[in-house]
Amino acid sequence: MLNDSAEFGIVGAGPAGAHLASLLASRGRNVFLFDPKGAWEKPCGGGVTSRALREFDFLLENASYPKKLINRIKLISPNKSVVALAVEEPFAVYSRQILNGLVLDRAVEAGATFICEAVSGFERQDSGWSIESESSGGKKRARWVRFLIGADGAASMTRRKLVGIFPKRDLALAFGYNINDSGLMPSNRFATDEVIVSFLPGFTGYLWAFPRPGVMNFGVASKLGEKTSEYLRSTLSEFVRDYYGGKMPESDRATFFGAKIPTLHAGGWKDLRTTGDGWALVGDAAGFCDPITGEGIYYAFKSAELLAYAVEKSALTWSDATSRYEQLWREQFGAELERASQILPRFYRGRIFGQIFTDAMVRLSKVHRGTARILVRALIGDQSYVNLKHDLLKSAWRVV
Ligand SMILES: Cc1cc2nc3c(=O)[nH]c(=O)nc-3n(C[C@H](O)[C@H](O)[C@H](O)COP(=O)(O)OP(=O)(O)OC[C@H]3O[C@@H](n4cnc5c(N)ncnc54)[C@H](O)[C@@H]3O)c2cc1C
Repeated sequence: MLNDSAEFGIVGAGPAGAHLASLLASRGRNVFLFDPKGAWEKPCGGGVTSRALREFDFLLENASYPKKLINRIKLISPNKSVVALAVEEPFAVYSRQILNGLVLDRAVEAGATFICEAVSGFERQDSGWSIESESSGGKKRARWVRFLIGADGAASMTRRKLVGIFPKRDLALAFGYNINDSGLMPSNRFATDEVIVSFLPGFTGYLWAFPRPGVMNFGVASKLGEKTSEYLRSTLSEFVRDYYGGKMPESDRATFFGAKIPTLHAGGWKDLRTTGDGWALVGDAAGFCDPITGEGIYYAFKSAELLAYAVEKSALTWSDATSRYEQLWREQFGAELERASQILPRFYRGRIFGQIFTDAMVRLSKVHRGTARILVRALIGDQSYVNLKHDLLKSAWRVV
């Protein structure tokens, strides 16, 4: 293989791309991994669910990459009722720079070639792809790969060129702050080691406060176009002020961010294209996020794992690998995410027992451990959406 060619070209070194690079390289495959930013503070809550920690054990094994382990979630309902719930198995909150660094370090250690450049274009060439990338100094260079993987996130250029962008209805808009909170104290209604999730009336999404080592991450997300950017930003500022007892921390402590999250509508899953002749998409670029919680890190790792497995098991043809990957992701999480898309409007805006669904769930969680357990499990990725309605109703009927 020439220096400027490789078997795989992966665009994007976030959780999906870097994890895929590490899996392929550790099996002796030749990989180019492109990202102009390397490990960076990607706009994100950084919440890594208990299920992700369980399935991707390298996360907890690497103690030198700091994270905060969380044992409690405080839920605030639209009518301001509050319940604090214990989590059976802790989940973690990471700085995204640290998490991305962990996965990228593993990829490089496994033998992937990391190229700190942005991919600016690609085209078919000699039964592979010619990829053009650009350094921060503006120098362009072409390389050749046999198989192309788009792991370049929700605004994926790879996706745009191969399939087209996500339509507006398949996206959520999120804003957030990372606040250096050393020396700052939350108001006495909150604790420093708990995650806060606050639901609002008439709102398909939620506000959050996630503690990281030395930093509080605050955010708000809702369906794109549902609320104006001004509304989201002012609601978020009010939430942050409330957290710190009525006063916004000084601006030099705060970094503001905004980004989109793929949240596919229910009909979007059936025809979702994630593969084609000599290419595949993973992670956000593929559309793999939980539309209810916005969780995407688990699906980034999982889709990378499934694609690496499909490649390994399909030595004969690329089309065998891509169809196996399609089949695997649909079986292992596609049906679940499709179900979440179907439930989404009812989860945030539906009514049950004459109340807004989230009001009713918080109220029931206060008095019934079974409901609390199901709700917490849904938020940390351990409750199947396929059974959510059935399980909640079964537990709720025991109370009412
Ligand atoms: C505000 C917000 C909060 C969130 N909170 C959570 C949370 O708490 N928990 C959770 O599980 N999920 C959360 N998510 C979702 C999560 O951030 C994503 O699902 C996850 O990062 C997807 O990983 P990825 O590797 O597919 O893409 P990304 O992490 O987006 O990585 C894509 C990479 O591609 C690179 N790239 C882009 N273009 C190019 C190019 N042309 N050439 C080369 N490289 C390129 C980028 O620099 C980036 O590093 C949140 C999202 C947002 C926006």
